Amino acid sequence: MRGMEPWRLGGHHPRSPMDRIGPETFFFHFPSLLYASGRNLCYLCFQVERKRYPWHNYEYWNSGVFQNKVYPQARCHAESCFLSWFRDWNLFSYKHKYHVTWYLSWSPCPNCAKEILSFLQEYKNVTLSIFTARLYYFWHSDFQVGLQRLCRAGVRVDIMCFEDYKYCWKNFVDHQGMPFQRRNLLKHYRHLARELGKILGIGYGRTGIIRTFPKKQNKMWQVAENQVGETGKRKQKR
Ligand SMILES: [Zn+2]
Repeated sequence: MRGMEPWRLGGHHPRSPMDRIGPETFFFHFPSLLYASGRNLCYLCFQVERKRYPWHNYEYWNSGVFQNKVYPQARCHAESCFLSWFRDWNLFSYKHKYHVTWYLSWSPCPNCAKEILSFLQEYKNVTLSIFTARLYYFWHSDFQVGLQRLCRAGVRVDIMCFEDYKYCWKNFVDHQGMPFQRRNLLKHYRHLARELGKILGIGYGRTGIIRTFPKKQNKMWQVAENQVGETGKRKQKR
């Protein structure tokens, strides 16, 4: 495979997100562990919702999965991949607002945090929520500062909880009708939530904000669950 363009290995162009990842990838890359060796890749599952002026509810607009590019000729963190993909759409219209949700296997590094902040400065019509499976170098102060800055800029940062995993399984994993199993996905969830709370200066556990997916999303989610029960077949995303 040497000499091949790296994105061909994954079967997708770096600017194009994948639709879903395999269950093995999900179970290997997403467990909430304090220290995780051998996981040099970072996965970013995203969902973008949009509302139009005059403001109604947010509606589903786009979703997919990015993976960081670790090859020297195409090095790019998953967050950067998303931001450059989003920029390509040229969505500066004041008649649209976008809410972006990321489910990350690793939390953003300081450089990505900086890049996200300048992106949000640029796109005043975009808000962002980040749910992360693990905290990347959380004991390093520059990584902590990056998360704090994101939080101060209005980005919701949280550790992935049971519902987040279940949601990702339904919408971003090629599960072939298999029901969700938590396995060791939530192994160090409480510990990580506590660490994040310390970093962000808030109490233990969730930040107290109730998850508010648009009604349409919730409905779609329930429909998908019912379909799994009835047919046991692979579900189409929304
Ligand atoms: Zn990064």
